Amino acid sequence: MAARPQPYLDDLNPAQRAAVLALDGPVLMLAGAGTGKTKALTARIVHLLNTGKARPNEILAVTFTNKAAREMKDRVARMLGQVEGMPWMGTFHSISVKILRRHAELVGLKSNFTILDTDDQLRLLKQLIVAANIDEKRWPARMLAGLIDTWKNRAWTPQKVPASEASAYNNRGTELYDQYQARLRALNATDFGDLLLHVVTIFQTHPDVLAQYQRWLKYILVDEYQDTNVAQYLWLRLLAQSHRNICCVGDDDQSIYGWRGAEVGNILRFEKDFPGAEVVRLEQNYRSTPHILAAASGVIASNAGRLGKTLWTDRDEGEKVRLIGHWDGEEEARWIGDEVESLQRGTRGLEPHGLDDMAILVRASHQMRAFEDRFLTIGLPYRVIGGPRFYERLEIRDAMAYFRLAVSPDDDLAFERVVNTPKRGLGDKAQQEIQREARAHGVTLLEGARGLLARAGLGGKGAGQLRGFIEGVDRWHALTLTPHNHIALAEQILEESGYTDMWQNDKTPEAPGRLENLKELVKALEQFENLQGFLEHVALIMDNETEEAAQKVSIMTLHAAKGLEFPIVFLPGWEDGLFPSQRSMDESGLKGVEEERRLAYVGITRAEELCTISFAANRRVYGQWQSALPSRFIDELPEAHVDVLTPPGLYGGGYGAAGIASTSMDARVANANVYNSPGWKRLQDRASTRPVSQPREQRNVTIDLDAVSSFTLGDRVFHQKFGYGAVVAIEGDKLDVDFDKAGMKKIVARFVVAASQ
Ligand code: ATP
Ligand code: MG
Repeated sequence: MAARPQPYLDDLNPAQRAAVLALDGPVLMLAGAGTGKTKALTARIVHLLNTGKARPNEILAVTFTNKAAREMKDRVARMLGQVEGMPWMGTFHSISVKILRRHAELVGLKSNFTILDTDDQLRLLKQLIVAANIDEKRWPARMLAGLIDTWKNRAWTPQKVPASEASAYNNRGTELYDQYQARLRALNATDFGDLLLHVVTIFQTHPDVLAQYQRWLKYILVDEYQDTNVAQYLWLRLLAQSHRNICCVGDDDQSIYGWRGAEVGNILRFEKDFPGAEVVRLEQNYRSTPHILAAASGVIASNAGRLGKTLWTDRDEGEKVRLIGHWDGEEEARWIGDEVESLQRGTRGLEPHGLDDMAILVRASHQMRAFEDRFLTIGLPYRVIGGPRFYERLEIRDAMAYFRLAVSPDDDLAFERVVNTPKRGLGDKAQQEIQREARAHGVTLLEGARGLLARAGLGGKGAGQLRGFIEGVDRWHALTLTPHNHIALAEQILEESGYTDMWQNDKTPEAPGRLENLKELVKALEQFENLQGFLEHVALIMDNETEEAAQKVSIMTLHAAKGLEFPIVFLPGWEDGLFPSQRSMDESGLKGVEEERRLAYVGITRAEELCTISFAANRRVYGQWQSALPSRFIDELPEAHVDVLTPPGLYGGGYGAAGIASTSMDARVANANVYNSPGWKRLQDRASTRPVSQPREQRNVTIDLDAVSSFTLGDRVFHQKFGYGAVVAIEGDKLDVDFDKAGMKKIVARFVVAASQ
């Protein structure tokens, strides 16, 4: 066969080319961010096909996300010029499903097995816990689900779980796990973790099946290898053991899934598992400017136990990494929104950029809310990648349904959504009874339920709980009709309904995030006069979604940003407790914080031209100010590569280094001891005096200053619920009041009266 042209080799550097040309035998490409690992991996696939070394169906390429798999497919198709059958590319899970369907009977399943969603899984586990006479309150189903997932990630079947790991559930954890697997089999179902575990089990127990795949899959390629867990590692090792043509690419500095059982040690073990492996190191970074690269390298240098790498780039110097402090999270979102707009127009010598070029990468998904609200307010199109938008999240929709019901008790959809959330013993049957009653009398569900109770038409423990629920709705609704503090009311609703408790008692890894989102929801209320206004705002947001914009800013978590790149990146919320997360800081040892630091490295290295890191000196949690320290990672940024920006003041002048007020802000600053911290002082010392790129737009100033209240700073005021306090800041018609007993609160001015004392 005549050699085909190989243009895909032309734009590779010598080290990349070596990795592409070394087709046979094990290859480990271990290199820092942006060095072209994924690019080389893709070229390798094309080269295998182009040289006739392998037919498409003899190649297996594993990526971490479906999005990455899709992109790789597109790139391969483009490079090949013509599509002549595509290699098998996908995630570990998507590939495992296909294998498992073919051999389901070997693990006691039929090929049409279903994959359970979390709700079904929890229901099943709960039944087992109750049947085993174990206290479900002490040992909740969600915790067992988490435990079983961990075991599955380690490729432990019930028989393989070591006794030392199974003390939970009165030492009956493994027994429950075993029963759970049996139930799944009886239902012809799997959960997510089973997909890999079953395939590994099949390979381990049926050498003939394994041999068939080994013969068949001549070449295996794996991207983001540093994030594989034990089950995935075994899966790969079994498949590759025969031909040994396995090429793994990864970066130990980007290992960010330790909390889900990923083992960076897999990389280090590669040479042992595959003796004679060719190890390719790539050192030239093609993605980022020298300043961005140096900032990222400076941060990651604080981690111990790294393999260590050199990275360089021949790109133009470009802008330094920008660092900016804000008064609070809302201000941070406002500033970033303005920046996005000026970058769109072209600023600071940068060419105008489309919105697709920009990304905001957050540590925790609850941070997205402030950006979504702000962007909607100013009409900036955005997309949330890798998860639902804030107001579409389960816990937010539940909470909103409670608010809707409080405002309009005749909202039947809201009633349906929450009448049995948290569980009130009102299952399908009880709910049908309510529906029937309501229909028969032509009334709302709430009235139907009331009627049903009045004629004792509902038995069981559900009746008592339903009565409590109705009383709650009546009470909340009555409150909405009188002058009230809507933030306090929202908190009251979430508490009295048992909704917050439900997530507090929930031991799954997602629960803390959901609680954070609920706090964030309450925070969002502060921008509104009452619940009604807020609900209208959200309804409008949801309506907006149908509008399709050509270009959009991306908002996503740092985890979801892995492997991606954007010319312009914003990294907000760099505060101790948020990033690094409180949980990682509370852990003994450095492991947790080191994983967070790798996440910081991933974040900075996503940026090609401009990277902006920001933090807020205060975050409001449940209406209370909490001061925050700038992230310890900020101290680790090498000074020579960072520009500390000074935001323009809300009230005319600049307000000093990184967000320090010179006028009305002073009062608040006095209350925030953050400004006395060593970290803050260092920042001030480093702050350059030149003001930030763009003056604040008039539009914002008018929004902030209209409806000015009649109070002045220092005024003594009285509030019905919070008592006496002093006004320490004024923003439009909202006051920050430092109450003698209740502490700092944000209050709408007309809810307080001037006090003489
Ligand atoms: P990450 O660790 O973040 O996943 P990576 O090592 O996989 O990064 P790639 O995404 O493959 O890096 O490449 C980063 C950027 O550099 C891409 O835009 C890619 O097109 C470009 N690039 C890679 N190699 C070269 C090269 N030899 N010449 C020019 N550009 C290159
Ligand atoms: Mg990559």
